[in-house]
Amino acid sequence: MNLTIDPNKCHASCECIKVCPQGAIRIVNGKAHIDESKCDLDGICIPACPHDAIQFEE
Ligand code: SF4
Repeated sequence: MNLTIDPNKCHASCECIKVCPQGAIRIVNGKAHIDESKCDLDGICIPACPHDAIQFEE
């Protein structure tokens, strides 16, 4: 399982970056990007996104 960020929904408001305890999210080319090597899949960033851009993907 992975987390994906829909680039069409991401407005780079950076709320996910603020809540991620692993420091796994950064902005790349104006969109949030998750570093899978750091992400522990706790899902904290999902409800933090005001644009509903982050989802689990099987
Ligand atoms: S699931 Fe948790 S560790 Fe992974 S990017 Fe979101 S907040 Fe960070």
